Formats: sequence, C-alpha cells, structure tokens
Amino acid sequence: MSAACYRDELVGLFGYPVDENPTVVMIEAGFRELGLKYRYITMEVRSENLETAVKSLKALGFKGANCTIPHKVEVLKYLDHVAPDARIIGAVNTIYVKDGETYGENTDGKGFILSMQDAGVVLEGKKIVVLGAGGAAKAITVELAMAGAAHIMVINRDVNRGTALAANLNDKTPVKASYTAWKRTYQLPSDTDILVQATNIGLYPDTSCPDIDYDSILPGMVVCDVIPNPPHTEFLKRAGARGARTFDGLGMLVNQGRIGFKLWTGMEAPVEVMKAALAKEFAE
Ligand code: NDP
Repeated sequence: MSAACYRDELVGLFGYPVDENPTVVMIEAGFRELGLKYRYITMEVRSENLETAVKSLKALGFKGANCTIPHKVEVLKYLDHVAPDARIIGAVNTIYVKDGETYGENTDGKGFILSMQDAGVVLEGKKIVVLGAGGAAKAITVELAMAGAAHIMVINRDVNRGTALAANLNDKTPVKASYTAWKRTYQLPSDTDILVQATNIGLYPDTSCPDIDYDSILPGMVVCDVIPNPPHTEFLKRAGARGARTFDGLGMLVNQGRIGFKLWTGMEAPVEVMKAALAKEFAE
C-alpha cells in the first residue's frame, strides 16, 4: 500500500456571470510551476446563494476564494473578518480561511501598488489624478492614500460617485482628495506626478481613449491603466509617446493574484509564469 494523497487543496472564484473570467489560467499556471497539489475552481454563484457559498468554504475545507461581480460588496456581510482597507474601500475580492474563520481582503489596489513599487516608483508625497470613481478607482485610491500619497484628484462623469469617493478618502484616510466633474476634455495640472486610468475605456473590444488633453502629459510622469486586455491600450500608447513611464493593467491583475496566491498557499507566486499564461490567454 502506498501513502498517496488523492485530495487536492481547493481555492476558487465566486461570480455571476463568471464563465469568461480567466483567473483560473493564471493561478493554476502558478500551482503547476511550483508543483502544488492545489486546484482553482471557477464557480457560478448567484446572489441568493452567496451566503451559503461563503459558509461552504469552511465546510468543504477550501483555503479561500476570489470574489467577482456582483458579489464584491455584498460578501462583506458574510465574512468573519474584513481587513481595514477593504472595509474603507467597501469591497472584498479575496477570501482566505484560517483556523476555521473567513478573512476578506481587497487585493485590487494592493496589486496596483505592488506593480509600481516593484518598479521603484515612490508614492509618498505624490500628486495623483485618477480617472473614474468605480470599484477599481476606489480600491486604488485607498491604497495610494495608505501608501502616503499627498493629493488625489478624482475625475468622473457621474457627480455623485465622484464626490462620494473624494469624501470617503478625506474622511477615512490621511490623503487630501478633491473631485472635478468630467464634462469636457480634461487638462492635467502640470505638477501631476501620477495619472491613473481607472474607467472601463479601452477594454477589449473598445479601442477608444479617455477624453483628456494628451499634450498635458509631460515627460517623466507616471501613467497607469487598469485595463488588462489589451495590456497596451491606445491610452498607454499615447502617454508613452509623450515620454511618460507607463504601467499596464495586466501587471496590476497578476500582482493582485500574487497576493491571494501567497495567502492561500503560503508560497511566493511565480509572477512571470502567471503573467505569461494570462497574456497568452488574452492574445488568443
Ligand atoms: P465600475 O463599473 O465600478 O466603474 C466604471 C467607471 O468607469 C465609472 O467611474 C464610470 O464613470 C467610468 N466610465 C465608464 N465608461 C466611461 C466613459 N465612456 N467615459 C468616462 N468614464 C467612464 O467598474 P470597475 O471600476 O470595477 O472596473 C473598471 C475597469 O477596471 C474594468 O474595465 C476592469 O476590467 C478594470 N479592472 C482591472 C483590474 C486589474 O487588476 N487590472 C482589477 C479591477 C478592475 P461614471 O461613474 O461616470 O459612470
């Protein structure tokens, strides 16, 4: 008789719709690279079943799960613990189970920060302009505030959403935040250090660009896009042509996955392997 173990450690993804979410490709590439006996299962979970699904993580012995639309906000109600930054953001995208209890984290903004810090970008004391005020913008701005940014200017079409984000940052984080309504072509202040594109604009198959004055992007500015597919958006191409240092949404996506990977497995994620797996998926 051998002492073989036929059981896999389990993690996964809750969402609806979820069929086209490629996270499994990235995470399982990481498991294979490290020879881990782990599986990442993509699960269709409807809103009315979210509570049971979260509780089931414990019953089924899952190490954790990612959470995507429409559950990122609702899931907070069903977790035993929520990280302070995820509570300020108001959304959780990563759950891990420890000692029989569920913990919620938001790794979207942290992934964004990691991809910049890995490249040596200093965030402390910086003046930052963020286009958009949705889930991605919320996660990124809270983490930028926690990382010591001096000022965040939120630019958004919807006044209520834009105002609420700036107010939340001023109330709950150390950063100074303001809001400008996006009614016409936006001109960046010349002392902007970092510009973050956090709207849906440019997501495949859209090839349009945010309505900003591209001549106001100056050489040396750091310009980031959250769009992972395609990684080289028209926005980043235009910013690069102005001499900006650019960061794509694929790096952000892989780095947020890297944080979950470590929480679930205790191992450092093989980032380059995971990035290549995802980039191949997007290219097909
Ligand atoms: P939300 O729906 O929560 O927010 C969308 C935001 O985009 C809103 O601020 C909206 O403005 C703005 N917007 C959309 N279309 C336009 C337009 N034509 N002109 C101006 N503003 C526009 O989405 P999320 O924040 O969750 O996601 C945004 C993008 O971020 C997605 O494309 C997603 O793929 C990407 N993302 C990437 C991640 C990564 O790891 N790389 C992680 C998470 C998200 P308004 O309020 O005025 O409607």
